[in-house]
Amino acid sequence: MDDLAAFRAKLLAWYRNVRRDLPWRRTPIDPYRIWISEIMLQQTRVATVIPYYERFLARFPNPSTLAAAPEQDVLAHWAGLGYYSRARNLQKAAVQMPGGVFPCAYDEIRALAGIGDYTAAAVASIAYGLPYAAVDGNVLRVIARLCKDASDIKSPKTRARFATMAAELLDVANPGDFNQAMMELGATVCTPKNPTCLLCPVREDCNGFAAGTQNQLPIKIRDTRQKDVHITVLIAERENALLLRPSQQIAGFWELPFDVEGIGLAERLGSFAHQITFHKYTCDVVRGVVARKPKGMEWVARARLAELPLTTISKKALRLIDR
Ligand code: SF4
Repeated sequence: MDDLAAFRAKLLAWYRNVRRDLPWRRTPIDPYRIWISEIMLQQTRVATVIPYYERFLARFPNPSTLAAAPEQDVLAHWAGLGYYSRARNLQKAAVQMPGGVFPCAYDEIRALAGIGDYTAAAVASIAYGLPYAAVDGNVLRVIARLCKDASDIKSPKTRARFATMAAELLDVANPGDFNQAMMELGATVCTPKNPTCLLCPVREDCNGFAAGTQNQLPIKIRDTRQKDVHITVLIAERENALLLRPSQQIAGFWELPFDVEGIGLAERLGSFAHQITFHKYTCDVVRGVVARKPKGMEWVARARLAELPLTTISKKALRLIDR
């Protein structure tokens, strides 16, 4: 980058002009709220997060209320966002905060449960103006294109090198806005497919654009852990109650049973796809008849469903009969 100061100024001016009005960006800046938003936004789209964020903050407005809440209550407010360890870690971290006060030093923030380099840098820079570069997937993509760097961004070595580059690009006088500007650029302009380079504020600084290779970058070597999984979800009803079992994958949650043997099948209701980390599920949903309650399962009155944390696969399956 020939003129770093000019690059930073163009990016910041653009961001301050076009940034989206999101609930966690509204003043006054509150580290607790920024932290909750950053954790919810991991692996989840902004539009999905907004209603969850508002409900969660209405119920748990500060670290003390979150620390004191029953875990079931926290999970119920998270149900549907997935990756439930995030919710458990939020509560663990709230318990770790002395006097219910969110810490203000980077190392103390980084030491909280569930907080990695990215989240610590995002909260420290946005809430406290500390000079740490936040490097998420959007930022990795922008850097790969700006620098026309064809290294595999799934590799820890590349990530570490890109993190150093992000720290060099960072505007230490405006770290919070600069980090958000890089992420906003990746989310709205320098998108994974077909970036809108003609609207990009830093197009003149972009080596990928100059070479016409922006669409081929970044390079990601396919993860061989990705697996296709096929399951059959059972909906069995009796006197307005549904057959459920404690979730086999998410502690504290309940689910419709799947792949149960010895069930009389009455009707095929449909199917849907669902992705959990490296597993791509195809879920067939059937209505079944159960002569006797299988071991480890419960008949749960439909009226109680709203108060139980249910897995997302179960919710999606129930939508097929509630349509
Ligand atoms: Fe991304 Fe295009 Fe901007 Fe380069 S010019 S940073 S590829 S949007």
